[in-house]
Amino acid sequence: MLNIALFGPPGSGKGTQSNLLIDRYKLEHISTGDILRNQIERKTDLGMQAKQLIDKGQLVPDELIVQLIESRLAEKADADGFLFDGFPRTVAQASILEDMLLKFNTSLSCMISLEVPQEELLRRLLERAVIQGRSDDTEEVILARFKEYEQKTLPVMDFYKSRDKFFSINGMGDLKKIFESMSELIDGIVKKS
Ligand code: AMP
Repeated sequence: MLNIALFGPPGSGKGTQSNLLIDRYKLEHISTGDILRNQIERKTDLGMQAKQLIDKGQLVPDELIVQLIESRLAEKADADGFLFDGFPRTVAQASILEDMLLKFNTSLSCMISLEVPQEELLRRLLERAVIQGRSDDTEEVILARFKEYEQKTLPVMDFYKSRDKFFSINGMGDLKKIFESMSELIDGIVKKS
């Protein structure tokens, strides 16, 4: 099984690259942000709890995220592999993911980080706000999301570095070129395994 986690701050292009990767490697896409937005749209209890935090730029508690991931993995137990987008975002989530994948007799193949300077991230997110109108794409909320990322998500990098599973890619420039670099990296990892 090929299991990839895409890593990077808000606006780094995880969503766009995910769509290309699931197509190329036939992976099941699991985006916790999309799942949460769907719960909010359906006005579920979990969605309403999450909305208050998302609108402030804060992370949703690990317990809620783990519930969502567990049920999604169970639904897609016959998948050839998973692409995790926006997950794991805390060290606790990363270590729970290890246990969950172990139950499927598999593990995370790699975490790939998209590197983009902060000024460019802000520019992209404000541009996206005009196009998509996401309630958490205001400048104030974006800055809160960057802060959460630095405090809670960056340590996830060390978790995978210590397991030799962390790789980074330049997330600036042409989308297709970024995708090519990412594919080369993944093909190398698949060959090795
Ligand atoms: P995203 O679309 O991935 O940028 O996620 C939007 C928001 O959903 C984030 O700012 C968080 O509030 C919440 N969220 C998404 N994924 C997670 C996660 N793995 N852990 C905690 N909160 C999350």
